[in-house]
Amino acid sequence: MVNFTIQNVLIAFSDDYATVDVQIIDGAIAAIAPNLQVIGTAIDGKNKLLLPGFFNAHTHSSEMWQRGIMSAFPLELWLAELYDFAPLDPEQVYLSALGTAVETLLSGGTSVVDHLVLIPGLELETIAIATRAYREVGIRAFIAPLIQDESLSAGIPSGESAQKHEPYFRSTAATLEIIEEAVRQFHRPDEGINILVAPTGIQLCTDALFQGCTELSDRYNLCRHSHLLETRAQEKLAQEKYGCTAVEHLQRIGY
Ligand SMILES: [Zn+2]
Repeated sequence: MVNFTIQNVLIAFSDDYATVDVQIIDGAIAAIAPNLQVIGTAIDGKNKLLLPGFFNAHTHSSEMWQRGIMSAFPLELWLAELYDFAPLDPEQVYLSALGTAVETLLSGGTSVVDHLVLIPGLELETIAIATRAYREVGIRAFIAPLIQDESLSAGIPSGESAQKHEPYFRSTAATLEIIEEAVRQFHRPDEGINILVAPTGIQLCTDALFQGCTELSDRYNLCRHSHLLETRAQEKLAQEKYGCTAVEHLQRIGY
């Protein structure tokens, strides 16, 4: 591993700043003090502030392809449009994961959570491709395969009307099997690649999916990820579905 010493850089304390040198040896901080001996490459930190790597706690790499071209709709309609032309091509999955990793690093981030849109029928391949991209760049990645088990229209509150929704194309059990297989194949925390359980949110997921994810999370020690209450419609939907708030319900079912 590369050794280097950052000289004369500002670091923050709880209530003050200090100008110090920082020695990095074998990939870890070895010493922080003024006027240290230079080990490895010297880096001039003058007039710069040294901070820990930032953590992007939520992004969707696939949306890199859709930036600036989406209509300015409320979220529910916006999602319908987004779903209509999500990039469903493995090469695009690879390139946008690569772009997400590079963009994160260039903006000071060293870890990223990618709530990853899966290509239907090629779910494990999608996860494999994103894993490859993040490994190639070397960023710490938290790959959160985006899953649901209800169709898009089920995410809209029905109000006074009686609605029937199309069943989702893949069963809850099949979805959970995909995630478990992804964990077996790709979850390597020691190597900087983590698989998360990541049901998209209460608006498109059954309790069975949340509970299946909780079980996987407990069994394999996985982080849990989800959207929560992004719109007024979702707040209303939670009352219709559960008779309580979304947070109360998720707590009740142990997610
Ligand atoms: Zn999101």
